[in-house]
Amino acid sequence: MLTSLKGKSVVVTGASKGIGKGIAGVFAKNGAKVLVVARHLDAARAAAEEFVKAGGTASAIAGDVTSLADMEAMAKAAAERHGGIDVLCANAGIFPQAKIEDMSPEQWDEVLSTNLKGTFLAVKAALPYLKKSAQGRVVLTSSITGPVTGFPGWTHYGATKAGQLGFMRTAAIELSKYGITVNAILPGNIVTEGLMGLGEDYLKTMAASIPLKRLGTVEDIGYAALFLASKEAAYITGQSIIVDGGQILPESLEALAQA
Ligand code: NAP
Repeated sequence: MLTSLKGKSVVVTGASKGIGKGIAGVFAKNGAKVLVVARHLDAARAAAEEFVKAGGTASAIAGDVTSLADMEAMAKAAAERHGGIDVLCANAGIFPQAKIEDMSPEQWDEVLSTNLKGTFLAVKAALPYLKKSAQGRVVLTSSITGPVTGFPGWTHYGATKAGQLGFMRTAAIELSKYGITVNAILPGNIVTEGLMGLGEDYLKTMAASIPLKRLGTVEDIGYAALFLASKEAAYITGQSIIVDGGQILPESLEALAQA
């Protein structure tokens, strides 16, 4: 059994729904004090209340990852309410689809600003507190899309998700002197409000193309984050874990069909 994360202070950006909520819920269930961060306070509060009702410790704050001031307020709130920051899960991200021919520079900037600059700003703001932790951890939510695979309409998105891994490798070196590890999870297709927006057809064909024959759950990602935040993962840094039900493995449709 992993050493408990009981009492650790965990901040999760983009935690009002989807993967972030799943990550936050797994930490709350395992005794951590969780700060739920999202732009819309009502939804963030509702998620935190759910965790508290289930016996956990959680609170919420409104924050936009594209704003350094918001990220600093988030980090300060975690320190004041929960005694510091031990784990930052930089998860907030958006994935609107637009092919290159139709994509405006503004659309490109919005995705870069949220997914990539937002990762940097969250880490920068949390750093003064993570440095004081005996077990500082940064867990990024990247994706298979970008670092490993491609999908039409997601050049900007794929660039940010691959970019997060570039950020991670240097951050892992820079922060090693504080004993802080920096790792990333690369989810495949996970059932979230965001993914549902892509439509029934997308979800059905995706599930059929995954060796484990189902989309992932947000808890599948939450438990990977919990492991990377654990004491037992102390010697893992600058690495990424793919959590995708084997989606990237088949080299052809035939490989899937013959299984
Ligand atoms: P989602 O269901 O749409 O949830 C996104 C969360 O991020 C919400 O809590 C949203 O709340 C918040 N958010 C969005 N923009 C924000 C901003 N500027 N500042 C702060 N919070 C913001 O998305 P998801 O599917 O869970 O995706 C979450 C992460 O997982 C993303 O980084 C995504 O790239 C990654 N991912 C998802 C999948 C998948 O299959 N779902 C696969 C691979 C990777 P507000 O709108 O209130 O801010």
